Amino acid sequence: MSFDSARQVEALNQNLAELSGDINVSFEFFPPTTESMEQTLWNSIERLSKLQPKFVSVTYGANSGTRDRTHSIIKDIKERTGLVAAPHLTCVDATPDELRAIAKDYWDNGIRNIVALRGDLPPGADKPAMYADGLVSLLKSVADFDISVAAYPEVHPEAKSAQADLLHLKRKIDNGANRAITQFFFDVESYLRFRDRCAAIGIEAEIVPGILPVSNYKTLVKFAGFTNVKIPQWLHQRFEGIADDDQTTRNLVGASVAIDMVRVLSREGVKDFHFYTLNRSELTYAICHTLGVRPKA
Ligand SMILES: Cc1cc2nc3c(=O)[nH]c(=O)nc-3n(C[C@H](O)[C@H](O)[C@H](O)COP(=O)(O)OP(=O)(O)OC[C@H]3O[C@@H](n4cnc5c(N)ncnc54)[C@H](O)[C@@H]3O)c2cc1C
Repeated sequence: MSFDSARQVEALNQNLAELSGDINVSFEFFPPTTESMEQTLWNSIERLSKLQPKFVSVTYGANSGTRDRTHSIIKDIKERTGLVAAPHLTCVDATPDELRAIAKDYWDNGIRNIVALRGDLPPGADKPAMYADGLVSLLKSVADFDISVAAYPEVHPEAKSAQADLLHLKRKIDNGANRAITQFFFDVESYLRFRDRCAAIGIEAEIVPGILPVSNYKTLVKFAGFTNVKIPQWLHQRFEGIADDDQTTRNLVGASVAIDMVRVLSREGVKDFHFYTLNRSELTYAICHTLGVRPKA
């Protein structure tokens, strides 16, 4: 082996050793709609719980009337795994009195963590009665919850401007939120610039990157359009020619993208990562394993 290639191998080894479990992870799930999806969800929760996430969260479809399912999965997760489990709660589809009653019920059932969101407006809806900053205040008036809120490195699609969006985020933190979890993104620079802008206006809470392991590139492209998420050219190139390939090939490429992103971000000092698992464990587990997040004895 030449001197140069020996140095390259050494650099690679260092790169791999760099992240030996030095990161915290959290996982997001959604309520399943069929029995087989329910089975997949529980298999995933059981497998991923071994990685001792800081918390797991369960989404709630605003305007879908499925809050009870979110609640019952959260209770089951707590009972079956002992993990810290955080329900998502949206305010767009409930009155303040209903929200206070839900919050009290969560607190009385030992739920201390909530992901507080406004939720998407139904088509044609007017200005909402409450934004997420109001929900944070309402929750804090009920009890001292640990609250996560949403943040948008590439700007929320309805925001008047990037600066207005940032000020809204600051209000959520000032009202008592403990951290922000970002919309998924692939342009790492956007996240880093956003984090700098948060720091510059005095947001000290952690801006936890939301990582979406991509297993279906075609669906991603559609979804990214609605959510204002940029698909960089390098991502197109990674998936070019394999959109209809077998799942294993697509998963391997998706995992390598997420691993690269986490590596770069962690070199920039990011310690906490939130994974959008889409209720599947394979990709997220493999990514965490590679990054040194392993089951603890
Ligand atoms: C981590 C994460 C988890 C999510 N989980 C769910 C979920 O479980 N269920 C679900 O339905 N959706 C979920 N969403 C999507 C979210 O509900 C939508 O993006 C929604 O459109 C905005 O919610 P928000 O909490 O960010 O709203 P807000 O923070 O209220 O912001 C919404 C928009 O209004 C603007 N705004 C805020 N305050 C004001 C104000 N006072 N006046 C004028 N404009 C204002 C903001 O700039 C932004 O454009 C999630 C998003 C993320 C990033």
